[in-house]
Amino acid sequence: DQIDFVKVSVMDGIDEEPNEAEEAKTISKGLQEERKTLPIYPYRDELLQAVKDHQVIIIVGETGSGKTTQIPQYLHEAGYTKQGMVACTQPRRVAAMSVAARVSQEMGVKLGHEVGYSIRFEDCTSEKTLIKYMTDGMLLREFLGEPDLASYSVVMVDEAHERTLSTDILFGLVKDIARFRKDLKLLISSATLDAEKFSDYFDSAPIFKIPGRRFPVEIHYTKAPEADYIDAAIVTVLQIHVTQSPGDILVFLTGQEEIETVDEILKHRTRGLGTKIAELIICPIYANLPTELQAKIFEPTPEGARKVVLATNIAETSLTIDGIKYVVDPGFCKIKSYNPRTGMESLLINPISKASANQRAGRSGRTGPGKCFRLYTAYNYYNDLEDNTVPEIQRTNLANVVLTLKSLGIHDLVNFDFMDPPPSEALLRALEQLFALNALNVKGELTKTGRRMAEFPLDPMLSKMIVASEKYKCSDEIISIASMLSVGNSIFYRPKDKQVHADNARMNFNTGNVGDHIALLNVYNSWKETDFSTQWCYENYIQVRSMKRARDIRDQLEGLLERVEIEISTNLNDLDTIKKAITSGFFHHAAKLQKNGSYRTLKNPQTVYIHPSSGLAQLNKNKIDQDLQRLLILLFCYAAQVHPRWVVYHELVLTTKEYMRQVTELKPDWLVEIAPHYYQLKDVDDPTTKKMPRGQGKSAL
Ligand code: ADP
Ligand code: MG
Repeated sequence: DQIDFVKVSVMDGIDEEPNEAEEAKTISKGLQEERKTLPIYPYRDELLQAVKDHQVIIIVGETGSGKTTQIPQYLHEAGYTKQGMVACTQPRRVAAMSVAARVSQEMGVKLGHEVGYSIRFEDCTSEKTLIKYMTDGMLLREFLGEPDLASYSVVMVDEAHERTLSTDILFGLVKDIARFRKDLKLLISSATLDAEKFSDYFDSAPIFKIPGRRFPVEIHYTKAPEADYIDAAIVTVLQIHVTQSPGDILVFLTGQEEIETVDEILKHRTRGLGTKIAELIICPIYANLPTELQAKIFEPTPEGARKVVLATNIAETSLTIDGIKYVVDPGFCKIKSYNPRTGMESLLINPISKASANQRAGRSGRTGPGKCFRLYTAYNYYNDLEDNTVPEIQRTNLANVVLTLKSLGIHDLVNFDFMDPPPSEALLRALEQLFALNALNVKGELTKTGRRMAEFPLDPMLSKMIVASEKYKCSDEIISIASMLSVGNSIFYRPKDKQVHADNARMNFNTGNVGDHIALLNVYNSWKETDFSTQWCYENYIQVRSMKRARDIRDQLEGLLERVEIEISTNLNDLDTIKKAITSGFFHHAAKLQKNGSYRTLKNPQTVYIHPSSGLAQLNKNKIDQDLQRLLILLFCYAAQVHPRWVVYHELVLTTKEYMRQVTELKPDWLVEIAPHYYQLKDVDDPTTKKMPRGQGKSAL
């Protein structure tokens, strides 16, 4: 099958004030020479002069012009690192790591020495570090320990156009400290042209524009909407590979799962192409990919072959990959969305904005004229896509940020200097949530629990779960669970040809239907018992890399426990205490079984389902025939035996349905016992609880 594309428009190339450096670019040059060929190089001295003359500068330049890799080096060369480190923030972990690696190479130093990076749970810096790439979230956390950022002489807030939540909060904080730290230089850099807004916010800071350089890009649209963009992306890649002239392909997908799927299918389909067709080298890139494999996307493509990079929107502006000539843009990305009315947060696959679509297209015109294949129609582009992505601060749960700001002593959140203020409803929700978690008191002040929670670089619900483990004497188990949850959904490995084996191996950790949280704990403990054996991981279809990461995270959480003076104690014989600690953090995420087998969240009712990957769903799938299960669900009283009546979940993901991921059974009276200010008896009213003597419920209050 083929996809028909129509060429509708050509995105003009940009060539403002071309410079001689362009012609000087030849293939085999040392890295130092290569640095001189970047568009930013001719502006080096001018830029340094501007930094000298002004405290705050807005820098705008096309992706690939050298902002991220060069500016910190220029500042270092000009002596700024003598007074303190140069920080450069990135919205994404992978970008921070990858760029730091590149810059350490360019400077000929070992990564982690003069040039390092710092991301959550991974600090690759040392006493020697002068240039520090870090996620915006990490710099935000550094304020907690060092409110004036005294270790830094320059802070570069990079990729400012992404407007992540942490970047937006950083804006307010760095703007504030710049007032009393006149020696601190601030650079705000962005790949898009909305610099005026940044300049206005930073009291009319000057805008330094690095003239762009880009070749024209032909835009092709599909004639008709594509029902399945994954399939369409695969077909398009193969179509390009077979029919188009040499040049690498960049495909934008929404996340790891999609990337792995496309990777697998492409490998499968190219196997049958025969020797007449050039080799297609497939390079995935996403946050959880091991570093060695991440580096693969930057390796030059061998003569006669073609590279296809499968990336998330990290490749939109954060990473520049040379040699890309074709871009395949399905038009989607995964974004967090939050409904302040219901307090529900969910990761959604959403259409991208026009601004993103144009950034994506631009990636094909860096080294020569390019082509962008949009897997949607021109009508969709013009009529359905928003102009810009809504800043994260306006579509996310703010509990974490509010907790951080409160710990920084910023109490008046309504008057905080936001570039774009969050909806007041969302602020209120965050305060309510923190109050319910007992992190804030009625006056909105940080409690002891709240202060302890703020020490953990985790979502407040997870930090609360950890702090609550003190009471239930199960901190040892709880930090293992928290680490496993923090790794994400990459613990279990499920190869296509061995799904049954993998599922069975997974089921073994859920013996007794203990639920997903305890199953994760069982995985961790079993691995630990084998002395962290790699072989054991293979045998049990567990990703060893994820486990090692969980172990690193756990080590750090253990250190933080000590800092907040919570003793390590274990209570493995009483799983209910562990579940109660989980419930102490996640009682907002409680749901009750419905007659049709779905669940309904307790407060702000919404219909949700157990994710098919959950142990609680697996059990049903394997034990009972599908039809029989449906029959049982019809006879509601039996359904209770199939699905737990009451559950608490870690997160919601919306795919075909709103799914709960990581689910554990709970007892409804725990809710009233643990969160009496949030749940009353009527919320957990239930035939089974009704039979309970009245007094029992009351005493819990
Ligand atoms: P900007 O921040 O303006 O988008 P960068 O500083 O990230 O630009 O990139 C400048 C150039 O450095 C890119 O065009 C690319 O050639 C090179 N580069 C950046 N990161 C890497 C890397 N990890 N490996 C190889 N080359 C890289
Ligand atoms: Mg950059």
